[in-house]
Amino acid sequence: MSAGTGARMGATTREECAALDAVDPLAAFRKEFALPDGVIYLDGNSLGALPVRTPERVRQVVEEEWGRELIRSWNDAGWFEQPYRLGRRIAPLIGADPAEVVVCDTTSVNLFKVLSAALRLRPGRRTLLGDAEAFPTDLYIAEGVAGLVEGARSVLVRPEELDRHLDGDVAAVVLSHVDYRTGELLDMPGITARVQAAGALMIWDVCHAVGALPVELGASNADFAIGCTYKYLNGGPGSPAFLYVAERHLAAGPLQPLSGWFGHARPFAFEPGYDPKPGIGRFLTSSPSLLGQAALDTSLDLWERVDLAAVRAKSLALTDLFIALTEGLDGIEVVTPREHARRGSQVALRHADGYPVVQALIERGVIGDFRAPDLMRFGFTPLYLSYTEVWDAARQLAEVLESGEWRAERFSRRGAVT
Ligand SMILES: *Cc1c(COP(=O)(O)O)cnc(C)c1O
Repeated sequence: MSAGTGARMGATTREECAALDAVDPLAAFRKEFALPDGVIYLDGNSLGALPVRTPERVRQVVEEEWGRELIRSWNDAGWFEQPYRLGRRIAPLIGADPAEVVVCDTTSVNLFKVLSAALRLRPGRRTLLGDAEAFPTDLYIAEGVAGLVEGARSVLVRPEELDRHLDGDVAAVVLSHVDYRTGELLDMPGITARVQAAGALMIWDVCHAVGALPVELGASNADFAIGCTYKYLNGGPGSPAFLYVAERHLAAGPLQPLSGWFGHARPFAFEPGYDPKPGIGRFLTSSPSLLGQAALDTSLDLWERVDLAAVRAKSLALTDLFIALTEGLDGIEVVTPREHARRGSQVALRHADGYPVVQALIERGVIGDFRAPDLMRFGFTPLYLSYTEVWDAARQLAEVLESGEWRAERFSRRGAVT
Protein backbone atom coordinates (compact mmCIF):
# COMPACT_ATOMS: atom_id res chain seq x y z
CA MET A 1 0.00 0.00 0.00
CA SER A 2 1.25 3.46 -0.73
CA ALA A 3 1.67 5.87 2.16
CA GLY A 4 -0.08 8.54 0.10
CA THR A 5 -3.35 6.64 -0.20
CA GLY A 6 -3.29 5.72 3.50
CA ALA A 7 -2.94 9.35 4.50
CA ARG A 8 -5.85 10.45 2.30
CA MET A 9 -8.06 7.73 3.69
CA GLY A 10 -8.65 9.51 6.97
CA ALA A 11 -7.47 8.78 10.49
CA THR A 12 -8.76 5.24 11.01
CA THR A 13 -6.13 2.54 10.48
CA ARG A 14 -6.68 -1.05 9.43
CA GLU A 15 -5.37 -2.14 12.85
CA GLU A 16 -8.07 -0.09 14.55
CA CYS A 17 -10.65 -1.83 12.37
CA ALA A 18 -9.28 -5.23 13.36
CA ALA A 19 -9.62 -4.18 17.01
CA LEU A 20 -13.29 -3.26 16.41
CA ASP A 21 -13.88 -6.65 14.76
CA ALA A 22 -12.41 -8.42 17.77
CA VAL A 23 -15.10 -6.99 20.06
CA ASP A 24 -17.98 -6.96 17.54
CA PRO A 25 -21.05 -8.55 19.23
CA LEU A 26 -22.40 -9.62 15.79
CA ALA A 27 -19.17 -11.18 14.52
CA ALA A 28 -20.40 -14.73 15.17
CA PHE A 29 -23.10 -14.37 12.48
CA ARG A 30 -20.50 -14.23 9.72
CA LYS A 31 -20.01 -18.00 9.75
CA GLU A 32 -23.75 -18.43 9.15
CA PHE A 33 -23.30 -17.10 5.60
CA ALA A 34 -21.70 -18.75 2.57
CA LEU A 35 -19.69 -15.94 0.99
CA PRO A 36 -17.06 -16.72 -1.65
CA ASP A 37 -13.41 -16.11 -0.78
CA GLY A 38 -11.90 -12.93 -2.12
CA VAL A 39 -15.21 -11.06 -2.21
CA ILE A 40 -16.19 -8.05 -0.12
CA TYR A 41 -19.94 -7.97 -0.53
CA LEU A 42 -21.43 -4.47 -0.37
CA ASP A 43 -24.63 -5.32 -2.24
CA GLY A 44 -26.66 -7.04 0.47
CA ASN A 45 -29.12 -4.16 0.13
CA SER A 46 -29.96 -5.49 -3.33
CA LEU A 47 -29.61 -9.26 -2.92
CA GLY A 48 -28.69 -10.57 0.52
CA ALA A 49 -26.08 -13.32 0.97
CA LEU A 50 -26.85 -17.04 1.18
CA PRO A 51 -27.25 -18.44 4.72
CA VAL A 52 -25.30 -21.72 4.99
CA ARG A 53 -28.35 -23.64 6.20
CA THR A 54 -30.61 -22.61 3.32
CA PRO A 55 -29.59 -25.21 0.68
CA GLU A 56 -30.25 -28.11 3.06
CA ARG A 57 -33.65 -26.74 4.06
CA VAL A 58 -34.68 -26.18 0.44
CA ARG A 59 -33.47 -29.68 -0.44
CA GLN A 60 -35.53 -31.09 2.42
CA VAL A 61 -38.68 -29.31 1.25
CA VAL A 62 -38.12 -30.46 -2.33
CA GLU A 63 -37.16 -34.06 -1.68
CA GLU A 64 -39.05 -34.88 1.49
CA GLU A 65 -42.05 -32.57 1.83
CA TRP A 66 -42.76 -32.48 -1.88
CA GLY A 67 -41.08 -35.60 -3.32
CA ARG A 68 -42.03 -38.09 -0.64
CA GLU A 69 -45.04 -36.66 1.20
CA LEU A 70 -46.60 -35.09 -1.88
CA ILE A 71 -49.96 -33.41 -1.34
CA ARG A 72 -50.12 -34.51 2.29
CA SER A 73 -47.62 -31.74 3.11
CA TRP A 74 -50.30 -29.07 2.74
CA ASN A 75 -51.56 -30.22 6.12
CA ASP A 76 -48.74 -32.25 7.60
CA ALA A 77 -45.81 -29.92 6.84
CA GLY A 78 -47.76 -26.74 7.59
CA TRP A 79 -47.76 -25.43 4.02
CA PHE A 80 -51.25 -24.00 4.25
CA GLU A 81 -50.46 -21.98 7.40
CA GLN A 82 -47.05 -20.85 6.27
CA PRO A 83 -47.90 -17.31 5.00
CA TYR A 84 -49.16 -16.51 8.52
CA ARG A 85 -46.32 -18.25 10.35
CA LEU A 86 -43.73 -16.35 8.35
CA GLY A 87 -45.67 -13.12 8.88
CA ARG A 88 -45.54 -13.71 12.62
CA ARG A 89 -41.78 -14.19 12.38
CA ILE A 90 -41.31 -10.92 10.46
CA ALA A 91 -43.58 -8.92 12.80
CA PRO A 92 -40.91 -8.23 15.47
CA LEU A 93 -38.52 -6.95 12.79
CA ILE A 94 -40.97 -4.23 11.77
CA GLY A 95 -42.57 -3.37 15.11
CA ALA A 96 -45.89 -5.01 14.23
CA ASP A 97 -48.29 -7.35 16.01
CA PRO A 98 -48.10 -10.94 14.75
CA ALA A 99 -51.68 -10.77 13.43
CA GLU A 100 -50.89 -7.73 11.25
CA VAL A 101 -48.34 -9.30 8.89
CA VAL A 102 -48.55 -11.92 6.17
CA VAL A 103 -45.97 -13.20 3.67
CA CYS A 104 -47.13 -13.49 0.07
CA ASP A 105 -46.56 -12.43 -3.53
CA THR A 106 -44.12 -9.61 -4.33
CA THR A 107 -43.66 -6.06 -3.11
CA SER A 108 -45.25 -4.61 -6.25
CA VAL A 109 -48.29 -6.87 -6.05
CA ASN A 110 -48.69 -6.20 -2.34
CA LEU A 111 -48.49 -2.46 -2.96
CA PHE A 112 -51.28 -2.84 -5.50
CA LYS A 113 -53.41 -4.52 -2.84
CA VAL A 114 -52.82 -2.01 -0.04
CA LEU A 115 -53.14 1.07 -2.29
CA SER A 116 -56.45 -0.26 -3.57
CA ALA A 117 -57.61 -0.97 -0.01
CA ALA A 118 -56.59 2.57 0.99
CA LEU A 119 -58.65 4.11 -1.81
CA ARG A 120 -61.66 2.08 -0.69
CA LEU A 121 -61.16 3.29 2.89
CA ARG A 122 -61.19 6.92 1.76
CA PRO A 123 -64.15 7.14 -0.61
CA GLY A 124 -64.44 10.59 -2.14
CA ARG A 125 -60.68 11.16 -2.02
CA ARG A 126 -58.94 10.44 -5.28
CA THR A 127 -55.26 11.43 -5.02
CA LEU A 128 -52.37 9.04 -4.29
CA LEU A 129 -49.16 10.84 -3.35
CA GLY A 130 -45.78 9.27 -4.00
CA ASP A 131 -42.13 10.32 -3.95
CA ALA A 132 -40.94 11.42 -7.41
CA GLU A 133 -37.56 9.80 -6.63
CA ALA A 134 -38.98 6.55 -5.28
CA PHE A 135 -38.07 3.09 -6.51
CA PRO A 136 -40.05 3.30 -9.75
CA THR A 137 -42.09 0.13 -9.37
CA ASP A 138 -43.93 1.84 -6.51
CA LEU A 139 -44.83 4.72 -8.83
CA TYR A 140 -45.82 2.46 -11.68
CA ILE A 141 -48.15 0.53 -9.39
CA ALA A 142 -49.71 3.77 -8.07
CA GLU A 143 -50.36 4.80 -11.67
CA GLY A 144 -51.92 1.41 -12.34
CA VAL A 145 -54.21 1.63 -9.31
CA ALA A 146 -55.23 5.21 -10.11
CA GLY A 147 -56.06 4.12 -13.66
CA LEU A 148 -58.69 1.73 -12.38
CA VAL A 149 -60.67 4.25 -10.34
CA GLU A 150 -62.77 6.99 -11.92
CA GLY A 151 -61.13 10.37 -11.31
CA ALA A 152 -58.17 8.97 -9.38
CA ARG A 153 -54.65 10.23 -10.01
CA SER A 154 -51.14 9.52 -8.86
CA VAL A 155 -49.17 12.66 -7.99
CA LEU A 156 -45.41 12.72 -7.47
CA VAL A 157 -43.76 15.10 -5.01
CA ARG A 158 -40.60 15.13 -2.90
CA PRO A 159 -41.03 14.20 0.79
CA GLU A 160 -39.93 17.69 1.91
CA GLU A 161 -42.82 19.22 -0.08
CA LEU A 162 -45.40 16.81 1.24
CA ASP A 163 -47.24 19.23 3.52
CA ARG A 164 -48.13 21.56 0.65
CA HIS A 165 -49.82 18.71 -1.18
CA LEU A 166 -51.77 17.19 1.71
CA ASP A 167 -55.18 18.52 0.75
CA GLY A 168 -58.63 17.04 1.24
CA ASP A 169 -58.37 14.94 -1.90
CA VAL A 170 -55.40 12.84 -0.77
CA ALA A 171 -56.47 9.30 0.04
CA ALA A 172 -53.03 7.82 0.70
CA VAL A 173 -49.33 8.61 0.70
CA VAL A 174 -46.70 6.00 -0.07
CA LEU A 175 -43.08 6.61 0.84
CA SER A 176 -39.96 4.53 1.34
CA HIS A 177 -38.59 4.49 4.88
CA VAL A 178 -35.08 4.39 3.36
CA ASP A 179 -34.41 5.83 -0.11
CA TYR A 180 -33.02 3.08 -2.35
CA ARG A 181 -30.62 5.44 -4.06
CA THR A 182 -29.34 7.90 -1.47
CA GLY A 183 -29.84 5.82 1.67
CA GLU A 184 -31.78 8.67 3.30
CA LEU A 185 -33.97 7.56 6.21
CA LEU A 186 -37.32 9.34 6.64
CA ASP A 187 -38.97 10.21 9.95
CA MET A 188 -41.64 7.52 10.08
CA PRO A 189 -43.64 8.69 13.13
CA GLY A 190 -43.49 12.39 12.19
CA ILE A 191 -44.57 11.96 8.57
CA THR A 192 -47.24 9.42 9.46
CA ALA A 193 -48.77 11.85 11.96
CA ARG A 194 -48.84 14.70 9.43
CA VAL A 195 -50.39 12.56 6.72
CA GLN A 196 -53.06 11.26 9.08
CA ALA A 197 -53.79 14.76 10.42
CA ALA A 198 -54.73 15.63 6.83
CA GLY A 199 -57.15 12.72 6.77
CA ALA A 200 -55.06 10.48 4.52
CA LEU A 201 -53.64 7.01 5.06
CA MET A 202 -49.92 6.30 5.32
CA ILE A 203 -48.29 3.41 3.48
CA TRP A 204 -44.61 2.69 4.14
CA ASP A 205 -42.37 0.76 1.81
CA VAL A 206 -39.77 -0.80 4.11
CA CYS A 207 -37.78 -2.75 1.47
CA HIS A 208 -34.53 -0.96 2.33
CA ALA A 209 -35.20 -0.74 6.05
CA VAL A 210 -36.27 -4.20 7.22
CA GLY A 211 -33.22 -6.01 8.59
CA ALA A 212 -31.15 -2.82 8.30
CA LEU A 213 -32.55 -1.03 11.35
CA PRO A 214 -35.40 -1.41 13.85
CA VAL A 215 -38.60 -0.43 12.00
CA GLU A 216 -41.44 0.86 14.19
CA LEU A 217 -44.66 0.54 12.20
CA GLY A 218 -46.90 0.06 15.23
CA ALA A 219 -45.36 2.82 17.36
CA SER A 220 -45.53 5.12 14.31
CA ASN A 221 -49.23 4.32 13.83
CA ALA A 222 -48.63 3.37 10.17
CA ASP A 223 -51.73 2.24 8.27
CA PHE A 224 -50.11 -0.14 5.79
CA ALA A 225 -46.65 -1.32 4.84
CA ILE A 226 -45.02 -3.55 2.29
CA GLY A 227 -41.51 -4.92 2.00
CA CYS A 228 -39.32 -7.50 0.36
CA THR A 229 -37.26 -10.25 1.94
CA TYR A 230 -34.39 -10.73 -0.50
CA LYS A 231 -32.41 -7.64 0.54
CA TYR A 232 -31.25 -7.35 4.18
CA LEU A 233 -33.34 -10.37 5.21
CA ASN A 234 -31.38 -12.75 2.94
CA GLY A 235 -34.44 -14.72 1.80
CA GLY A 236 -32.95 -15.46 -1.64
CA PRO A 237 -33.51 -14.15 -5.17
CA GLY A 238 -37.18 -13.37 -5.75
CA SER A 239 -38.17 -14.56 -2.27
CA PRO A 240 -41.75 -13.69 -1.28
CA ALA A 241 -42.62 -10.26 0.08
CA PHE A 242 -44.74 -9.27 3.08
CA LEU A 243 -47.48 -6.83 3.84
CA TYR A 244 -48.63 -5.16 7.04
CA VAL A 245 -52.09 -3.84 7.79
CA ALA A 246 -52.77 -2.02 11.06
CA GLU A 247 -55.20 -3.97 13.19
CA ARG A 248 -57.75 -1.12 13.24
CA HIS A 249 -58.20 -1.61 9.49
CA LEU A 250 -58.59 -5.35 9.80
CA ALA A 251 -61.51 -5.26 12.20
CA ALA A 252 -63.80 -3.56 9.68
CA GLY A 253 -61.87 -5.13 6.85
CA PRO A 254 -60.82 -3.09 3.86
CA LEU A 255 -61.16 -5.17 0.74
CA GLN A 256 -58.37 -5.60 -1.69
CA PRO A 257 -59.25 -6.37 -5.29
CA LEU A 258 -57.02 -9.42 -5.88
CA SER A 259 -59.66 -11.54 -4.20
CA GLY A 260 -58.23 -14.96 -4.89
CA TRP A 261 -59.16 -18.17 -3.18
CA PHE A 262 -56.44 -18.02 -0.51
CA GLY A 263 -58.13 -14.90 0.87
CA HIS A 264 -61.51 -16.62 1.00
CA ALA A 265 -62.94 -17.61 4.38
CA ARG A 266 -63.45 -21.20 3.17
CA PRO A 267 -61.21 -21.84 0.17
CA PHE A 268 -61.92 -25.55 0.17
CA ALA A 269 -65.67 -25.06 0.12
CA PHE A 270 -65.19 -23.95 -3.51
CA GLU A 271 -68.13 -21.56 -3.35
CA PRO A 272 -68.82 -19.32 -6.37
CA GLY A 273 -69.01 -16.07 -4.34
CA TYR A 274 -66.13 -14.33 -2.58
CA ASP A 275 -66.35 -14.17 1.21
CA PRO A 276 -63.17 -12.63 2.61
CA LYS A 277 -61.32 -14.20 5.52
CA PRO A 278 -61.42 -12.23 8.72
CA GLY A 279 -58.15 -10.48 9.57
CA ILE A 280 -54.94 -10.25 7.58
CA GLY A 281 -55.82 -13.41 5.62
CA ARG A 282 -58.03 -11.40 3.25
CA PHE A 283 -54.84 -9.90 1.83
CA LEU A 284 -53.77 -13.29 0.50
CA THR A 285 -54.51 -14.13 -3.11
CA SER A 286 -52.88 -17.36 -4.26
CA SER A 287 -51.03 -20.50 -3.31
CA PRO A 288 -47.81 -19.62 -1.49
CA SER A 289 -44.49 -20.03 -3.34
CA LEU A 290 -43.28 -22.68 -0.94
CA LEU A 291 -39.72 -23.16 -2.16
CA GLY A 292 -39.02 -19.45 -1.81
CA GLN A 293 -40.76 -19.44 1.55
CA ALA A 294 -38.58 -22.33 2.75
CA ALA A 295 -35.46 -20.28 2.04
CA LEU A 296 -36.96 -17.28 3.79
CA ASP A 297 -37.92 -19.41 6.80
CA THR A 298 -34.30 -20.49 7.18
CA SER A 299 -33.01 -16.94 7.11
CA LEU A 300 -35.62 -15.97 9.70
CA ASP A 301 -34.10 -18.59 12.03
CA LEU A 302 -31.06 -16.30 12.07
CA TRP A 303 -33.08 -13.12 12.52
CA GLU A 304 -34.77 -14.61 15.55
CA ARG A 305 -31.40 -14.46 17.33
CA VAL A 306 -30.42 -10.98 16.17
CA ASP A 307 -30.48 -7.90 18.41
CA LEU A 308 -31.71 -5.12 16.11
CA ALA A 309 -30.20 -2.43 18.34
CA ALA A 310 -26.78 -4.06 17.78
CA VAL A 311 -27.47 -4.16 14.02
CA ARG A 312 -28.28 -0.46 14.00
CA ALA A 313 -25.22 0.46 16.09
CA LYS A 314 -22.87 -1.52 13.83
CA SER A 315 -24.57 -0.30 10.65
CA LEU A 316 -24.00 3.32 11.67
CA ALA A 317 -20.41 2.58 12.65
CA LEU A 318 -19.70 0.84 9.31
CA THR A 319 -21.30 3.60 7.25
CA ASP A 320 -19.52 6.30 9.32
CA LEU A 321 -16.25 4.49 8.64
CA PHE A 322 -16.84 4.17 4.91
CA ILE A 323 -17.85 7.82 4.61
CA ALA A 324 -14.79 8.96 6.54
CA LEU A 325 -12.51 6.82 4.37
CA THR A 326 -13.95 7.86 1.01
CA GLU A 327 -15.13 11.47 1.32
CA GLY A 328 -11.82 13.02 0.34
CA LEU A 329 -11.25 10.83 -2.71
CA ASP A 330 -10.84 12.39 -6.12
CA GLY A 331 -14.14 13.08 -7.90
CA ILE A 332 -16.25 11.65 -5.08
CA GLU A 333 -19.23 13.34 -3.46
CA VAL A 334 -20.95 11.69 -0.49
CA VAL A 335 -24.70 11.84 -1.14
CA THR A 336 -25.94 9.91 1.90
CA PRO A 337 -26.89 12.10 4.88
CA ARG A 338 -24.21 12.36 7.60
CA GLU A 339 -26.79 12.64 10.37
CA HIS A 340 -27.45 9.26 11.91
CA ALA A 341 -31.17 9.98 12.29
CA ARG A 342 -31.40 10.47 8.51
CA ARG A 343 -29.31 7.51 7.35
CA GLY A 344 -30.26 3.93 6.53
CA SER A 345 -27.59 1.26 6.04
CA GLN A 346 -26.02 2.20 2.74
CA VAL A 347 -23.69 4.85 1.39
CA ALA A 348 -24.18 6.44 -2.02
CA LEU A 349 -21.20 8.14 -3.61
CA ARG A 350 -21.61 10.35 -6.64
CA HIS A 351 -18.95 10.10 -9.34
CA ALA A 352 -19.31 11.30 -12.92
CA ASP A 353 -18.05 7.90 -14.12
CA GLY A 354 -19.73 5.85 -11.43
CA TYR A 355 -20.65 2.96 -13.69
CA PRO A 356 -17.15 1.99 -14.88
CA VAL A 357 -15.68 2.72 -11.44
CA VAL A 358 -18.09 0.21 -9.88
CA GLN A 359 -17.26 -2.36 -12.58
CA ALA A 360 -13.55 -1.96 -11.90
CA LEU A 361 -14.21 -2.45 -8.18
CA ILE A 362 -16.25 -5.59 -8.89
CA GLU A 363 -13.34 -7.01 -10.88
CA ARG A 364 -11.24 -6.51 -7.75
CA GLY A 365 -13.79 -8.45 -5.71
CA VAL A 366 -15.54 -5.48 -4.09
CA ILE A 367 -19.19 -5.82 -5.09
CA GLY A 368 -21.33 -2.70 -4.96
CA ASP A 369 -23.74 -1.45 -7.60
CA PHE A 370 -24.65 1.55 -9.67
CA ARG A 371 -27.85 3.53 -9.98
CA ALA A 372 -28.31 5.92 -12.88
CA PRO A 373 -27.30 8.55 -13.57
CA ASP A 374 -24.15 8.76 -11.44
CA LEU A 375 -24.51 7.02 -8.05
CA MET A 376 -22.31 4.24 -6.76
CA ARG A 377 -24.21 2.40 -4.08
CA PHE A 378 -22.70 0.40 -1.22
CA GLY A 379 -24.86 -1.55 1.22
CA PHE A 380 -23.64 -2.40 4.72
CA THR A 381 -24.96 -5.60 6.24
CA PRO A 382 -23.88 -5.89 9.88
CA LEU A 383 -24.46 -9.65 10.08
CA TYR A 384 -21.75 -10.59 7.62
CA LEU A 385 -19.52 -7.57 7.10
CA SER A 386 -16.46 -6.65 9.16
CA TYR A 387 -14.83 -3.30 9.83
CA THR A 388 -11.65 -4.58 8.19
CA GLU A 389 -13.53 -5.40 5.01
CA VAL A 390 -14.98 -1.92 4.92
CA TRP A 391 -11.49 -0.48 5.30
CA ASP A 392 -10.22 -2.76 2.51
CA ALA A 393 -13.13 -1.82 0.24
CA ALA A 394 -12.46 1.89 0.71
CA ARG A 395 -8.80 1.30 -0.05
CA GLN A 396 -9.65 -0.59 -3.24
CA LEU A 397 -11.87 2.29 -4.32
CA ALA A 398 -9.02 4.72 -3.66
CA GLU A 399 -6.72 2.56 -5.81
CA VAL A 400 -9.23 2.26 -8.64
CA LEU A 401 -9.60 6.04 -8.75
CA GLU A 402 -5.90 6.75 -8.39
CA SER A 403 -4.82 4.27 -11.05
CA GLY A 404 -7.52 5.29 -13.53
CA GLU A 405 -7.97 1.59 -14.36
CA TRP A 406 -11.74 2.13 -14.61
CA ARG A 407 -11.11 3.87 -17.95
CA ALA A 408 -10.51 0.50 -19.62
CA GLU A 409 -13.16 -0.04 -22.29
CA ARG A 410 -14.45 -3.32 -20.80
CA PHE A 411 -15.77 -1.50 -17.71
CA SER A 412 -18.18 0.62 -19.73
CA ARG A 413 -20.18 -2.28 -21.21
CA ARG A 414 -23.54 -2.59 -19.48
CA GLY A 415 -25.46 -5.74 -18.63
CA ALA A 416 -29.25 -5.95 -18.43
CA VAL A 417 -29.08 -5.62 -14.63
CA THR A 418 -26.96 -2.89 -13.08
C1 LIG B 1 -36.54 -3.81 -4.04
C2 LIG B 1 -37.72 -2.92 -4.02
C3 LIG B 1 -38.93 -3.32 -4.60
C4 LIG B 1 -39.03 -4.63 -5.30
O1 LIG B 1 -40.26 -4.92 -5.84
P1 LIG B 1 -40.61 -6.39 -6.34
O2 LIG B 1 -42.02 -6.31 -6.71
O3 LIG B 1 -40.37 -7.32 -5.15
O4 LIG B 1 -39.70 -6.74 -7.47
C5 LIG B 1 -40.01 -2.44 -4.51
N1 LIG B 1 -39.91 -1.25 -3.88
C6 LIG B 1 -38.74 -0.84 -3.32
C7 LIG B 1 -38.66 0.48 -2.64
C8 LIG B 1 -37.62 -1.66 -3.38
O5 LIG B 1 -36.48 -1.25 -2.84
